[in-house]
Amino acid sequence: MKLIDSHGRRINYLRLSVTDRCNLRCSYCMPPEGIPRLQHGDMLSYEELYRVAQEAVSLGVEKIRITGGEPLVRKGLIGFIEHLATIPGLKELVLTTNGILLRELAQPLRDAGVQRLNISLDSMNPATFSTITRGGELASVLDGIAAAEHAGFPPVKINMVVMRGVNDHELLDFAALTLTKPYTVRFIEYMPTLQDSEWNSHVVEGHEILSRLEQEFSLLPLVSAEMAGPSRNFKISGAQGAIGIITPISGHFCESCNRIRVTASGLVKGCLFAHEAIDIKPYLRNAEDRELREIMRRIVREKPGRHHLVDKDSEYDIVAMSRIGG
Ligand code: SAM
Ligand code: SF4
Repeated sequence: MKLIDSHGRRINYLRLSVTDRCNLRCSYCMPPEGIPRLQHGDMLSYEELYRVAQEAVSLGVEKIRITGGEPLVRKGLIGFIEHLATIPGLKELVLTTNGILLRELAQPLRDAGVQRLNISLDSMNPATFSTITRGGELASVLDGIAAAEHAGFPPVKINMVVMRGVNDHELLDFAALTLTKPYTVRFIEYMPTLQDSEWNSHVVEGHEILSRLEQEFSLLPLVSAEMAGPSRNFKISGAQGAIGIITPISGHFCESCNRIRVTASGLVKGCLFAHEAIDIKPYLRNAEDRELREIMRRIVREKPGRHHLVDKDSEYDIVAMSRIGG
């Protein structure tokens, strides 16, 4: 079955946030004090998250990314993933993490059925890392990456949010990591965030990232795989790994957007930056399967054609990324 939205795009990718809690406080994502706790009944239970996933797959979703908040802080995650991995028709089950708890959890995640990991890492300098994450320990993430390798995961994808004046001086170091490691390092444009009213001045656009890399390295373009997402990929000549550039701001990729998002409290968003979100909790808790299926179809049908972040005078929702899962 194929799920096609009103703009002709095939929707086959669900980002499922299992919690809005986190063990870090990245300056671009969370306020220093964290966010108010969701009431217990406001969070989707694992049974409810499973039902959303199962329904989405029966409608045509083939790839699910578990995200958060920090997904690894939610208790019972491994059992939930084992269950998810049994959904017939689900081709890809992947997870995004800050890596802090991976040392202990990489092997259980692999055994439970996670096929690939994306790890967020914005600096390889312990002090800068601690500043960006407000106290995080770089060594834990590096241990986590090693544990992922040891557990038999394919080479990890490392996501670096590039921020001018904060970590953009490390661009070349991150790219150079791919010379000796088989990782894919992906540079992500900084997106508007509730935490930073000056966000605009921190954005380093994709074309600048690319030209700074090209001044140092010879980059060969790579063809993206199906369901690989919006990254433009390159390889430094002779490198073991690859480089990706993701440009939600300067080169929005809405025309090929294939995803919907479900937050830990059951809000479904067709676009990260759209005002509209539909609360599917009532459909999960009171309605028949048929009604849940119909509301999910409606969400896809009404998925916005594009975001309007860069349009002059446009209105858009600055998002709390930790609630939505990036
Ligand atoms: N806690 C996990 C992590 O950090 O990987 C998963 C959730 S996090 C919200 C998902 C992704 O969103 C991370 O890669 C993070 O860097 C990214 N993100 C959060 N706020 C962002 C922003 N303002 N601009 C660009 N990316 C952002
Ligand atoms: Fe936590 Fe991820 Fe947000 Fe950082 S980006 S505060 S690790 S949810």
